Amino acid sequence: MRLAEKVALVTGGSRGMGRAIALGFAREGADVAVNYRSHEGEALSAVKEIQALGRRAIAVKADVGRGGEVRAMVDRVIQTLGRIDILVNNAGIMKRTPLLEISEAEWDAILDTNLKGCFLVTQAVAREMVKRRSGVIINMSSIGQQVAARNMTHYNTSKGGIAQLTRQAALELVDHGIRVNALCPGLIETDMNRQDIAQEEFRATRLAGIPMKVIGTPEDVVGPALFLASDESRLVTGTHLFVDAGLTMI
Ligand code: NAD
Repeated sequence: MRLAEKVALVTGGSRGMGRAIALGFAREGADVAVNYRSHEGEALSAVKEIQALGRRAIAVKADVGRGGEVRAMVDRVIQTLGRIDILVNNAGIMKRTPLLEISEAEWDAILDTNLKGCFLVTQAVAREMVKRRSGVIINMSSIGQQVAARNMTHYNTSKGGIAQLTRQAALELVDHGIRVNALCPGLIETDMNRQDIAQEEFRATRLAGIPMKVIGTPEDVVGPALFLASDESRLVTGTHLFVDAGLTMI
């Protein structure tokens, strides 16, 4: 059990990669708080699955882009599960819109959830972690943190921000015994992109650009997340682990 007696908080943990990571952590011994914004039923079913593994689990509602809700979420997790050893900043939203057509509201929605949310939860959780002089933070970034893609200006800018937030937080928290790293998936089929992937032209074009010719599943990020969460990566901080079937090497 690589995460025995650890407590993890996974934002956006009711579906997709967040859910897979929450369950993967529980299989390795962790108690897990599953954050959700609107999918209460799915969050509660993830909690049931985790409890069936013999771990403690709670569902916690909060919009990660709102500071008050984030602080209340962190307080509730600490009160219920005692502490937070591992934070996975996974919550995110994506829209495909040409740069010339992105509205101010759409820009704000993407940046508030993906980048500001990552900052707010990191700060609130790190304030607790520093008291115990230990902790691990994993930020779900994307290959979009370093490559450009059409119609993804706001989303990829948010991920570029997460890349730098990861380095900044890793540096400022290193003296407190806290490690901070980013996980950068390539194309993983989830609710976020299922409709796009169902379109033959989108699927064929994207696959043509992926050296391994594979579209990933949420399970594909679980092992890399476990590595970053566990002591196996105890000397790893401020770095970016790409899980992208070779996408960023070309
Ligand atoms: P998903 O839509 O299945 O999961 C995202 C989760 O975040 C959902 O449960 C959603 O409800 C939650 N969420 C959204 N806004 C929130 C908010 N304001 N507060 C709390 N929760 C919120 O998608 P996914 O593909 O599993 O995405 C997980 C993360 O991985 C995201 O950060 C995404 O940007 C990133 N990512 C996805 C891919 C991909 O190909 N699917 C690739 C690279 C990175």
